[in-house]
Amino acid sequence: MSRTGREVRLAARPQGEPVATDFDVATVEVPDPSEGEVLVRNLYLSVDPYMRGRMNDVKSYVPPFQLGQPLDGGAVGEVVASAVDSHAVGDLVLHGQGWREWAVGPAKGFTALAPTETPSAYLGVLGMPGLTAWAGLFAIAGFKEGETVFVSGAAGAVGSLVGQLVKANGGIVIGSAGSADKVAWLTDELGFDQAFSYRNGPVADSLRAAAPGGIDVYFDNVGGEHLQAAIGSLKPYGRAALCGMISQYNNATPQPGPSNLALCVGKRLRLQGFIVSDHNDLRPEFQEKVSAMLADGRVKTAETVVEGLEKAPEAFIGLLQGANTGKMVVRV
Ligand code: NDP
Repeated sequence: MSRTGREVRLAARPQGEPVATDFDVATVEVPDPSEGEVLVRNLYLSVDPYMRGRMNDVKSYVPPFQLGQPLDGGAVGEVVASAVDSHAVGDLVLHGQGWREWAVGPAKGFTALAPTETPSAYLGVLGMPGLTAWAGLFAIAGFKEGETVFVSGAAGAVGSLVGQLVKANGGIVIGSAGSADKVAWLTDELGFDQAFSYRNGPVADSLRAAAPGGIDVYFDNVGGEHLQAAIGSLKPYGRAALCGMISQYNNATPQPGPSNLALCVGKRLRLQGFIVSDHNDLRPEFQEKVSAMLADGRVKTAETVVEGLEKAPEAFIGLLQGANTGKMVVRV
């Protein structure tokens, strides 16, 4: 059956903050699946901060997006045609062909999901950002009951789960975010012990006021001034999980590092970066435990849903500007 669908392409490499004209929406022919392939109608697409790095022509742990080509990324969709026994029409699947209405390809690239009322959760709390929170907090930072954790980007997909995992496991959590509404959501809805807006004054001052006795763990989503403040507040033998540094993703030239790194020596600090895809072994335990916490209300989620494939660039630009509370997704 002949079919067309829309896809979002990279029209220009962003200079600093991405703008609408860096993206194009094109209509293309969608082929029927060949032997061993499936055809999927996408329901939800993920926009994620790491995609900003892929828009630069720089080799990293993921290859750069190509100019004039469709972007890709996490998506959930429904199988509408299948030429393979493992996948049936109607199956819900998770895959990597986001930023487009239809996806077609070898069945092994499409992971079957249990039927659910909330498929977008597999792009957020039960998906890649959720596993990032789990791996960073437990495997990288080695968080233990009774410890005090500071998490930046706390009202986002990763940060909001980090804070709730700390609370569910007997810790104290302080979060920073970019608006009074987000701060209120963290303390009033999610149970953070304290939260502050980093826009209200120096992060170091706000953190010291929130944790006068210091912090044991820093979960870094932001970098820059936040990392410097955390190094100042970490107790001896403190640990930092370096997850992301979103304050620097739009920088055209590298920003100078924290000016207080020498403190890491005397305080015997451990700062460790990590990439979620190295921690797939934790996925079964993570999915089981976080699903149970969602079911009994120990974990709450929020999503900011942008409607329509053509709005995906807007959703991505908004993500970098803080337009989301919880996970930013696009409903196709
Ligand atoms: P979020 O849902 O947290 O969305 C991004 C948020 O970043 C925005 O909502 C905004 O919130 C905040 N932000 C933007 N610019 C700044 C700034 N200059 N200073 C402080 N905050 C800023 O995204 P994710 O939860 O998906 O990702 C969070 C972090 O985790 C990112 O750094 C990402 O790159 C990283 N990550 C790393 C992975 C890994 O494997 N290491 C995997 C997944 C994510 P606000 O309104 O509070 O400013």
